[in-house]
Amino acid sequence: MGDSIKGALIDIVGQENFSDLLIDMVSYSYDASDHKHRPKAAVWPTSSEQVSKILLMANEHRIPVTPRGAGTGLAGAAVPTKGGIVLDMCRMNKIQDIRIADRLTVVQPGVVYADLEEALAPYGFFFPPDPASGSVCTLGGNVATNAGGIRGAKYGVTMDYVMALEVVLPDGRIMRTGSDCMKSVSGYDLTRLFVGSEGTLGVITGITLKINPKPTAFETVQASFARLKDAGQAITDIMHSGIIPSVLELLDENSIKVLREHASMNLPDVMALILVETDGYTETETSFQMAKVIEVFRKNNVIDIQVAHGTEEVEELWRARKSVGSVAAQLRPNNVSEDVTVPISKVSDLLTGISIIVRNHDLPFVIFGHAGDGNFHPRIMYDPSDPDQVERVGNAVDEIFKLTCNLGGTLTGEHGIGLSKAPYMGLEHDRVSLEVMRSIKKSFDPNNILNPGKMSLD
Ligand SMILES: Cc1cc2nc3c(=O)[nH]c(=O)nc-3n(C[C@H](O)[C@H](O)[C@H](O)COP(=O)(O)OP(=O)(O)OC[C@H]3O[C@@H](n4cnc5c(N)ncnc54)[C@H](O)[C@@H]3O)c2cc1C
Repeated sequence: MGDSIKGALIDIVGQENFSDLLIDMVSYSYDASDHKHRPKAAVWPTSSEQVSKILLMANEHRIPVTPRGAGTGLAGAAVPTKGGIVLDMCRMNKIQDIRIADRLTVVQPGVVYADLEEALAPYGFFFPPDPASGSVCTLGGNVATNAGGIRGAKYGVTMDYVMALEVVLPDGRIMRTGSDCMKSVSGYDLTRLFVGSEGTLGVITGITLKINPKPTAFETVQASFARLKDAGQAITDIMHSGIIPSVLELLDENSIKVLREHASMNLPDVMALILVETDGYTETETSFQMAKVIEVFRKNNVIDIQVAHGTEEVEELWRARKSVGSVAAQLRPNNVSEDVTVPISKVSDLLTGISIIVRNHDLPFVIFGHAGDGNFHPRIMYDPSDPDQVERVGNAVDEIFKLTCNLGGTLTGEHGIGLSKAPYMGLEHDRVSLEVMRSIKKSFDPNNILNPGKMSLD
């Protein structure tokens, strides 16, 4: 990076908000994926005006700019593949307003998800998407990746809560989208266009989010199945039984085995476990829903149902689901974890298909995930120093993506496209929709300075 650009960046953000130190460049070269590339400089803007000036200058000099939240992304979307400047938004981290009467909150993009949860708790409200990385990831990152979590089937994902945005465009213009109203059908929905755009169209500098009253009653149950097919059918049946559980998670046979053998968990030796939570505002409401769930389990040959009584038992049931990913990851030096999603009626076909594919490639794997919205995390463990295993894991992932798309599913229900899934975009999207996506990118960012190289947009 030339001295004049460096000087201009320091003029905009101040010396204390600029770095080109090697230690920082290495830190910003990766996110939670396997991708790596060093930027030339990093800045920590503290206002929308600073972001605007940075983009204006970068656009004039054709310097790539990669926005960044907490760097927890799993698809390489925040990795500065073309070098340039990393725009770390973590210092724009104020909760600017909580307006319970209007059911909304206004935040800066660097606010950590858990900090908003804490701020809303005294009002009895919450922001539902609940990604598992919530203790560290930022709301800007959540909007840019359209993050979701285990309560997605009932409460939806980030896009269902974003009412309005402030965005700085690549040419430095500051734009406000959406409104503070619960409903608005005024003009093109520019807000939605930016949700899930992975920092390729503009930098999000302000977010207005819808918030919900927090449920106060919960019930939790774990069900064991001797056949994966029965578990899959139970999931499908629950989703058209007239109720929507707040959580519906599945662990496959390998997940159970890994937890029994490598974490000494006292789990039944079965082919599938389903964990269900119902929630509401009265116990009658949650019990009514759980009774329906149990009825469906019984019709689908459940072999055991464990009801959690009290916080400790609930925590114990959750422990298996929460630790399965990290326990399985210890089986080999590296792993890939996908987040493929299918229509609910295809859950059984997806689970069976993935098992066949990975077994054929002879690699250890587990499948777990958010069964209620058809979103699963097949995790395949491998040794990156063995070229044969690397090839097999690559082939298995290719086949899983093809299977998913053939079932009418999507490559990603949570983690986004980034770099990891960019080569597969053509499997899911037809030629015309890819052309339209690329022309949208071009009209916002004709010089391709904003997060270039991502989402197969170049
Ligand atoms: C242990 C773990 C668990 C996870 N669990 C979940 C889960 O349950 N659900 C889920 O959806 N994801 C999950 N993730 C993935 C990740 O946490 C989410 O994608 C999250 O939304 C990323 O937020 P971040 O602040 O870390 O963003 P980053 O990783 O820093 O960035 C992600 C993308 O957003 C863009 N971006 C960030 N801030 C802005 C901004 N202000 N303006 C424009 N673009 C911006 C970046 O350029 C990049 O393209 C998990 C990750 C880990 C490591």
